[in-house]
Amino acid sequence: MNTADLNFFKTFLLEQKSSILNKTNEFRSQDLSARESISDEAEVASRDLSMNLSIHLHERDRHALYQIERALGKIHNKTYGQCEGCGEDISAKRLMARPFTDLCVSCMEEHEDTRPFLN
Ligand SMILES: [Zn+2]
Repeated sequence: MNTADLNFFKTFLLEQKSSILNKTNEFRSQDLSARESISDEAEVASRDLSMNLSIHLHERDRHALYQIERALGKIHNKTYGQCEGCGEDISAKRLMARPFTDLCVSCMEEHEDTRPFLN
């Protein structure tokens, strides 16, 4: 992958990262405003529900952030976009769809790995 492509994906990943961080901040401020307006049991229950939801999202976001950091590290080492199976360059089209993938299409098919979040 050439420097221009690496820079393109670096920008792309940094945008993803900042959008996750902004979203996380929005959730935090929503939690704060919800806490101030609690007046009865029902609202406490619904607050607990939304707290659970934000914890769930937080974990998913944390996983995404981990993958973004890992990809940024690969960009730094100029190994981003290289298939970990065969060492060939993964197509830019595939990387746009799955920016965290470690394998090219043919290696992915060989592995037949269906775990969610692998990419
Ligand atoms: Zn491969």
